Amino acid sequence: MSQTKGIYIAGRWEDGATMIENRNPSDLSDVIGTYGQASAAQLDESLAAARKAQPIWWAAGIQKRHDVLMAIGTELMARAEEIGTIVSREEGKPLAEGKGEVYRAGQFFTYFAAEVLRNQGDLAESVRPGIEIDVRREPVGVVAIVSPWNFPVATPAWKIAPALAFGNAVVWKPANLTPASAVALTEIIAKQDIPAGLFNLVSGPGRDVGQRLVESRDVDAISFTGSVPVGRGIAAAAVQNMTKVQMEMGSKNPMIIMDDADLDLAVAHASGAAFGGTGQKCTAASRLIVHEAIHDAFVEKLVQSAQALNVGHALEAGTQIGPVVSEGQLKQNLDYVDVGKGEGAELLCGGDRLNRPTEGYYMAPTVFAGTRNDMRMNREEMFAPITCVMKAGSYDEALAIANDSEFGLTAGIMTKSLARASHFRANMRAGCVMVNLPTAGTDYHVPFGGRGASSFGPREQGTYAAEFYTTVKTAYVGAGAPE
Ligand code: NDP
Repeated sequence: MSQTKGIYIAGRWEDGATMIENRNPSDLSDVIGTYGQASAAQLDESLAAARKAQPIWWAAGIQKRHDVLMAIGTELMARAEEIGTIVSREEGKPLAEGKGEVYRAGQFFTYFAAEVLRNQGDLAESVRPGIEIDVRREPVGVVAIVSPWNFPVATPAWKIAPALAFGNAVVWKPANLTPASAVALTEIIAKQDIPAGLFNLVSGPGRDVGQRLVESRDVDAISFTGSVPVGRGIAAAAVQNMTKVQMEMGSKNPMIIMDDADLDLAVAHASGAAFGGTGQKCTAASRLIVHEAIHDAFVEKLVQSAQALNVGHALEAGTQIGPVVSEGQLKQNLDYVDVGKGEGAELLCGGDRLNRPTEGYYMAPTVFAGTRNDMRMNREEMFAPITCVMKAGSYDEALAIANDSEFGLTAGIMTKSLARASHFRANMRAGCVMVNLPTAGTDYHVPFGGRGASSFGPREQGTYAAEFYTTVKTAYVGAGAPE
């Protein structure tokens, strides 16, 4: 496959002002394609086209919107293996995960296809006689979507599906590391019977195309997933224009392993949540807080588990952990290993780049023990196959450590005690709490998001998505007396 697409505006594919090359992180000799980068004029044109298309789409009604979303979702699920292969080839996750991601993306569309048909709104009596009140949801307008590379199909899907379901138009700036996935998703949306300009793909560098998009006064709402520094800039730009904004950002997800936990289950969940997706998940377990009574036994088994993981080419059968996404990310990961050693943490396994038959960005799953919560490794999001173990003497101490973070996306506890599990559920400051489950792994029909620096604005997914993708109108009707 050699692609040259990247820009879809006003119902047509266009050439880019410049091009970028996309290589497979599992095999740097594999060029996936070259992809267009939008100019400022193309971005502006996409916004104008979106503005024109949005009222046409809203007026088309709920059956039309339902049918279109259902068709997109059904095709994504049917082609999960084919498009999942593209995801794995350019992002580096093992094929089973790539395929699973695309299937999940399809589920977001079919879920929101059904959500279109839900009766939205409220009726109320007025405090003034003879007046009726209704409260309805209307589209917010033109939605800018800026998405990251780690879930290049699922993350945009959980934003695009509700945006279209609630009657909005979309201008999407995908991550520049994963353009092929963006094109694959756009091709499916583009073949639907929708107004030209309703959905636009404007690939390009974040600091250039992304920045211009989020600063535009022609955008009514911005949905972003990515890093905290970029999120802060987007929030500042949004406030300048009074644009509605929703952001999912960094994390430092803790997982508490108590002395009464099922040890093997705890190791399996910690290892899966720390190293799955090469640790490049916003829900990854990066701080393991372990009760001192089982600390040594847990750590020994965790290291065995990490060392047994098969790191290799994402498309090769048997691979459990693919490469890191890019050279820059790998360098950052290895720098964090040095930071950890420098801070006095004990490197138990991994920490180095691996050689495989093909040249790629492979890194060994890495476990640090003897860490403290004030170390940089436990404060900053690394987005790496690195996890840090801390010791706690009691449940209370473990909870205090878990809560001592600027982030609050997901958090987990492994315990057989109902009392501890219930207390944790109520007192852990995080958007999603998991009991006897990994910190990663969420459903598509319920809200997803965090607290603190992890999230800003209304929640994503499930019925809660309506809060962001719609605006509420309260109508007062004085019908008068019949003549
Ligand atoms: P970024 O936040 O830089 O990128 C996310 C998206 O924002 C991309 O589409 C990017 O475009 C775009 N972007 C970048 N700069 C701007 C800008 N000034 N204005 C508007 N949009 C912009 O994350 P990275 O992909 O560079 O990853 C860096 C770190 O971010 C990771 O190491 C990880 O810690 C964190 N991260 C967290 C994620 C999460 O789910 N919580 C997801 C991804 C990253 P482009 O691709 O062209 O740069």
